[in-house]
Amino acid sequence: RQAAYAELRDVEPFTRDGTRIQVMMNAGLRDDIASLPLVGADGVGLFRTEFQFLVSATMPQRERQTRLYRDVLEAAGDKPVVFRTVDIGGDKAVSYIHSEEAENEENPAMGWRALRLALEREGLLKAQARALLEAASGRTLYVMFPMVSEPWEFDAAKAVFDGQLAFLKKRKKVLPEAIHYGAMLEVPALAEVLDALLPRISFLSIGTNDLTQFLFAADRANPKLAERYDWVSPAILRFLRRVVLAVEGSGVDLRVCGEMGGRPLEALALLGLGFRKLSITPAAIGPIKELVRKVELSEIGAAMTGWLHSPPPDMRAALQQWADERGI
Ligand code: PEP
Ligand code: MG
Repeated sequence: RQAAYAELRDVEPFTRDGTRIQVMMNAGLRDDIASLPLVGADGVGLFRTEFQFLVSATMPQRERQTRLYRDVLEAAGDKPVVFRTVDIGGDKAVSYIHSEEAENEENPAMGWRALRLALEREGLLKAQARALLEAASGRTLYVMFPMVSEPWEFDAAKAVFDGQLAFLKKRKKVLPEAIHYGAMLEVPALAEVLDALLPRISFLSIGTNDLTQFLFAADRANPKLAERYDWVSPAILRFLRRVVLAVEGSGVDLRVCGEMGGRPLEALALLGLGFRKLSITPAAIGPIKELVRKVELSEIGAAMTGWLHSPPPDMRAALQQWADERGI
């Protein structure tokens, strides 16, 4: 099986009806990038920049950040890398940032984390912005903000980048050739105001890990709740379908970067919902490429429309049966 996946490395994943599906990988450490050519991903759809902060005992200096980002871009070559600004906090608290007060949060996943923290610690976001802009000089830079709940948060974060960009320009530094800004959709409230957000962003990436824990009010880190909801439940699928429809025709690139996309049945459901771009854990790239090549999009799309309209008693069983009948 591993050998079969290795063979798929250089194979572009087209569905049976000829649609190219973009299969990217999630990463967070310099070493992760080594698997980019190995697994044959279309790029890095989520680079979790907070990992560098989490493994460090002190705040990583801007120069160290720049070096990491530059190395990652070098290693990725022509393939795009989407850098997510720090998602510190929640289950990823770091001692040198978190005051005792923040550490004692009762609900850290819904607490002072990600963009909420970064917008308050503006020095931190400024340093990261400068590091990213410098690392991507002469290249295309993709920047993604985590835990955006309202459009103004996106504007405020982008303004920090604009400020650093103006600074570098004044200093006559070589700027990135192009910069694309995007937001993660992982707070359900954002889905209700997409009309306001879409004109400001170039891509939207759904973080299904956080999104589903918030939709079901079920802590993603609590093993006792692992069976409390299913990624292919009608509530999640209907929610995601509404997002697909809201984004359609806006010109905004839509992706999924949560772990959901790395599981075959879930990926099949996402294709049926209309998603064409997934960013997943490197180990899942081979299996998902294999799946994509067996799927007829029009068929799964029609099946999904029916299931969303009147959900079967067990959506997972219905999907599984559908897949089994087609040898998927
Ligand atoms: C997510 O929430 O789905 C996501 C991709 O981000 P993280 O898992 O790092 O929170
Ligand atoms: Mg998340």
